[in-house]
Amino acid sequence: MSYDYDKVDVPADGEPVQVVDEENDELDIPETPIVPIIHGDGIGKDVGPAAQKVLSAAAEATGRDIAWMRVYAGESARERYDGENLPDDTVNAIDEFRVAIKGPLTTPVGAGFRSLNVALRQTLDFYANVRPTYYLDGVPSPMKKPEDMNMVTFRENTEDVYAGIEWEQGTEDVEKVRNFVEEEMGFDETMHDGPIGIGIKPITEKGSKRLVRKAIDYAIEHDRDKVTLVHKGNIMKFTEGQFSEWGMEVAEEEYPDDEVFAAPDSLWETQDDIDIPEGAVMVEERLADAMLQWMQLRTDEFDVLAMPNLNGDYLSDAAGAQIGGLGIAPGANFGDARVLAEPVHGSAPKRAGQDQANPTALILSGRLMFDYMGWKDAAELVRDAVEETISSGTVTYDLERNLEDAEKVSTTEFADTVIENIHDLA
Ligand code: NAD
Repeated sequence: MSYDYDKVDVPADGEPVQVVDEENDELDIPETPIVPIIHGDGIGKDVGPAAQKVLSAAAEATGRDIAWMRVYAGESARERYDGENLPDDTVNAIDEFRVAIKGPLTTPVGAGFRSLNVALRQTLDFYANVRPTYYLDGVPSPMKKPEDMNMVTFRENTEDVYAGIEWEQGTEDVEKVRNFVEEEMGFDETMHDGPIGIGIKPITEKGSKRLVRKAIDYAIEHDRDKVTLVHKGNIMKFTEGQFSEWGMEVAEEEYPDDEVFAAPDSLWETQDDIDIPEGAVMVEERLADAMLQWMQLRTDEFDVLAMPNLNGDYLSDAAGAQIGGLGIAPGANFGDARVLAEPVHGSAPKRAGQDQANPTALILSGRLMFDYMGWKDAAELVRDAVEETISSGTVTYDLERNLEDAEKVSTTEFADTVIENIHDLA
């Protein structure tokens, strides 16, 4: 597939990433891949260019290059594309070139403006939101042993109560749904009288299984020991409970036992007595409320986590806080043989355009993108150079205010120091 682009150019010095096997996430990455990049709104204008040059430096230091293709969304798109927020050029480039990265986009509060982030994820079916949470030496954390955390959360990205199937109080539609639920489905004593808002929580076999499969495949590829399915199936039996049943089915039916081992009754029983085949990834389940507790009390027991959309939203922010918060929390959206890296944080309008924001989250999102591309050495180099920078006390304002004896630097200065460290470490 090759699109016609209207207002952006495909870089002549790069080559497109090719798909070898879509279902198995196999890509053929050329030495100079074309990688679309959206710098983003607000602080995206600061952290976007900073992260771009750090990632280029890491690629070059490991004998490669990146042919960046600047594409636009949000404010920068409205200026160039007659008020359009998400032009076809941008969606098509991310579709065609398979590996892309974006900064934050502002979602104004109010009706009539769909989240661009959600639109991008849905249009291109990026169905897994992936967030690694690991500790970087020198980052201020509220925990006594933040270094115990080294988890990767896989959050389902397309369904659950986030699917947007809901009806506003006072409308004819919401009353129609109420009548159907009460009269036809027999829940006539469940809802209070008077105004009501109703939403639907769809959890499908397809959505659940492909998410859990991605998490298990990731665990196998990255030598992780365990995948924990996190749900509230004791209460929401036919949605969250079913998610976990389908997830366990994937573990039991799609992999040999000595590769993936579905732990029996792991919700209620201790695993101490279970005989796990040597080297196998264990798949277990935990209730979401208990999990938020275990994550703090037994941090080092968790590895890869897979869960429905809402649980994932809460849990990944809570996990991020344990290792230093938004300024450093990376993320990415995975589809089948496609990745769109993006930090967890938003556009922080108050700090926009002041060369102050922390580019670490976007830089480390790029690390995740490199990892997906199979550029493992470049990925490790980025991580080590960021860690070296922070642990030597060179930090942006957000970390400096929680540290003693650190030097506060600008976004640009931070990125330049990371690049120096890339050169020193390479
Ligand atoms: P936010 O993440 O922009 O900011 C929350 C707090 O964290 C602020 O105090 C901010 O200054 C700080 N912060 C965030 N990133 C930082 C960084 N890199 N360095 C230093 N400090 C940082 O969240 P918000 O204020 O709730 O949202 C602002 C806008 O961003 C909204 O329009 C929202 O919809 C959007 N948003 C976009 C994304 C995305 O693009 N994926 C994600 C979340 C929010």
